[in-house]
Amino acid sequence: MPVEFKLEFLKKLRTFHRYFYAVIMVLFFVLFAAKYISWHVQTIYFILMFLIFWLVDELIFYAKNHVNPAPFQIRLVAYSLVMLVGRHIADTSIPVACVLFIYVFLLMTEEIFFSDVFSDTNSMFLCILMSLISTAIVVPFKAKMSAAYVMVIILTFIICLLTYYLVYLLYSQSIKNFDDRYTKLYFKNADTVEENLKLGEFQQKVEKVNSEINLQKLNLTKANDELQKINTETRSLIEVMKYFSSNFNVPLNAKQMISNVMEIKKTSMCGFYMEKDTYMNEAPYLEILSVSSTSKMILEQDILDIYNTIKRKKIPEPLVICKNNDFKYPYLAGADICNAVAFPAFENDKVYGVMVVTSGKYDFFDGGFAFYETSIMNFTAALISDRLYLQTEDMAKKDGLTHIYNRIYFNNFYPKLCNEVLAENGELTVAMMDIDHFKSVNDTYGHLAGDEVIKMVASTDQEFAKKYGGTAVRFGGEEFLLILPNTSLEKAYRILCEMHAKIKNTEVNFEDLVINVNTSMGLASFKETTDDIHAVIEGADSAMYYSKEHGRGRITISGKEGQDIDW
Ligand code: GH3
Ligand code: MG
Ligand code: MG
Repeated sequence: MPVEFKLEFLKKLRTFHRYFYAVIMVLFFVLFAAKYISWHVQTIYFILMFLIFWLVDELIFYAKNHVNPAPFQIRLVAYSLVMLVGRHIADTSIPVACVLFIYVFLLMTEEIFFSDVFSDTNSMFLCILMSLISTAIVVPFKAKMSAAYVMVIILTFIICLLTYYLVYLLYSQSIKNFDDRYTKLYFKNADTVEENLKLGEFQQKVEKVNSEINLQKLNLTKANDELQKINTETRSLIEVMKYFSSNFNVPLNAKQMISNVMEIKKTSMCGFYMEKDTYMNEAPYLEILSVSSTSKMILEQDILDIYNTIKRKKIPEPLVICKNNDFKYPYLAGADICNAVAFPAFENDKVYGVMVVTSGKYDFFDGGFAFYETSIMNFTAALISDRLYLQTEDMAKKDGLTHIYNRIYFNNFYPKLCNEVLAENGELTVAMMDIDHFKSVNDTYGHLAGDEVIKMVASTDQEFAKKYGGTAVRFGGEEFLLILPNTSLEKAYRILCEMHAKIKNTEVNFEDLVINVNTSMGLASFKETTDDIHAVIEGADSAMYYSKEHGRGRITISGKEGQDIDW
């Protein structure tokens, strides 16, 4: 029988014993009150006896947490003998005898119940012994016993023995069944426990795998986000490259590049600087996009210094100006930034520009510089082809000797200009000039000297074109145009006078020679000398010939040939 079960049962038994002793006491008092028994030594003896039993019981139950049957067996025999002696000394009545018998019977059944080894002869011996004591309690021995009385004793003994044996059989069988079932359940339980353990282990494994999967899922999501970011960046770079290849406009491309950087990387500022003559630009290029006008101003002031610093480096590499508010270079102080990096724009290791990227966010450049560097590299590749195109285009439209626009350019440009002037209802004044006696310059000083003269006249023409917002063209061998849109005839005449005088007074030094030339000029104007814009060139040409034919070295206004000009 399992120990836990016994202990549990013992607890209940103690409570039962307490009630039982209480009932016995009450019974004694009731019998006494009913005058069925009287106070005498024997009655007090029984009451005391039960009180002592009670106390001993409490002690046994209190002390015995284990389930050793020996103290119970000793107690059983001792109690029974005490009761037997008491019964005979007191010569009690039948009801008291019955009470005693019931008590012995209960103790016996308890004993049987708690004896684990039923097959032990001890238990059987105890059965016989207790049957004897019970018989002696129920049927008192007499000095003189009749045969019938002996029969009653024997019968009582047999009934007791049978009763005890029956109880023993019943208990032993039920407990055996109980033990069998318990054992089965125990093993089943052990199996279940084992299975549970395995299940627990399995569950732990599943949980581990699950958490690993979750971690992988998180990593995958992160990687996916990263990939998406890279994909967006790559796509934007492709779009920008498409844009680059769709035109030959370098400043426009530079602006497109920095606005793409701003949009994709969400930077607070992006500025790009290029030296002059990078793409046939006469002045340095600078474009800054910024969310803060103050920061923009600061970058405008510092970008040249940043460019010079980056240019001084042996290898073109990004220059970290500021990392998480830690300024490594004395630039951009006061700008609303947390991180700033300058990326060199270079061609064959020669730095030609710089892109400055700033952000107000912490750890902004932790993702690396690849996007910015690729942007610049793509831009440089486009710049090289753009420059080649621009150079070719420039070569095609400019004269090789003088570097001013040639006749081809004029043929393309002039009709467009006429249309623009007509559309705006503006003015257009054209001066034509031809070097006087140029053949003799060639003949006297040689063609190379003649070239120098042509260059001098052309550069003067160009100088005046720039100064007055016009266009200088080498129209023929030593014939030039000065086209002045939106310039009145009077103003053009004054400009021409100034230019005429300058050419006349400029000495051309070639080797040890000093050459002076004069020019003949003709001036025509839409709408002041002609209503037909397409007749302006012709007008200027005939005016110029008038000058040639009338002494050379002079200026003639179309339609005013031979007239004195008093402007
Ligand atoms: P005029 O005063 O009537 O204009 O007399 P001219 O001698 O200047 O005559 P013209 O304008 O007809 O002269 C043109 C000369 O210019 C012919 C050609 O030899 C010379 N020429 C044209 N192109 C060049 C050039 O590129 N270099 C040199 N050195 N001479 C050139
Ligand atoms: Mg000529
Ligand atoms: Mg000439």
